[in-house]
Amino acid sequence: MARIAYVNGQYLPIDTPAVQVEDRGYQFADGIYEVWLVRDGVFLDHAGHLARMKRSLGEIRIPQPMSDVALDIALRETLRRNRLTDALVYLQITRGVSRRDHAFPAGTIRPSVVITVRPAPRAPVSARAEAGIAVITQKDLRWKRCDIKSISLLPNVLAKQAAREAGAFEAWLVNEAGEVTEGSSSNAWIITGEGRLVTRAADETILNGITRQRILRIAKAQGLVFEERPFTVDEALGAREAFVSSATSMVMPVVSIDGRPIANGAPGSLASALRASYEAGEES
Ligand code: PMP
Repeated sequence: MARIAYVNGQYLPIDTPAVQVEDRGYQFADGIYEVWLVRDGVFLDHAGHLARMKRSLGEIRIPQPMSDVALDIALRETLRRNRLTDALVYLQITRGVSRRDHAFPAGTIRPSVVITVRPAPRAPVSARAEAGIAVITQKDLRWKRCDIKSISLLPNVLAKQAAREAGAFEAWLVNEAGEVTEGSSSNAWIITGEGRLVTRAADETILNGITRQRILRIAKAQGLVFEERPFTVDEALGAREAFVSSATSMVMPVVSIDGRPIANGAPGSLASALRASYEAGEES
């Protein structure tokens, strides 16, 4: 069955030429995106993703192109037309189409909205979680507003490619202070020798993951001790456990960094328990 994409009000086979060459998303990466994991037809953390979408739009002054209700209908209808119940749903909103000029176009233009869906079968992700993933470190080359879910992802793309070429699943981005900010498409976590959960505070140097926020709520509800603070690569190498979080990976144990094992080199028990809590839909 052909995959169906939503493009500015139309549902089209995904390979239909439908985006204009002067779309500012195409020419300037002038836009934002969101990704939902759908399980059994349910959009996980729907409200959180919508709230972050609104925030990202506001921060770069793109007006929300359609009402929440209309957007919700478009998201669900795109999913339905792809006949999937376990899926990833991608939403992209750009400033729209106008003659190429860096500054915003004069007058109002209609933002472009694209929604795509792809299958997200559970088995490969579960298998990966059971084995744990390798990460490598890469310099964090990104801009200073990583809190905006911008479609400008070149440094993330290059870091992920370096990971792939090194046989690793994710790249941890390291700033000039030697701190891990986050992954190329995930948030980074460690569990200290004392069992404290540590992840960087959600400032402008990272994307505040919706999954990250839910894990913090789960941790609070379960009475786990957590600290939102920076950690270095060295601290991570000496940690009891490490993991990454994202809508696509949920909680994914990290078993090595740059080829050096974390603890005994197997997924940690707390990360695995958090993953189970996440999958069970637990929170405060
Ligand atoms: N950081 C970055 C850079 C990401 O791209 C993502 C995935 N979108 C995340 C963190 C995790 O965010 P979420 O939990 O909302 O998927």
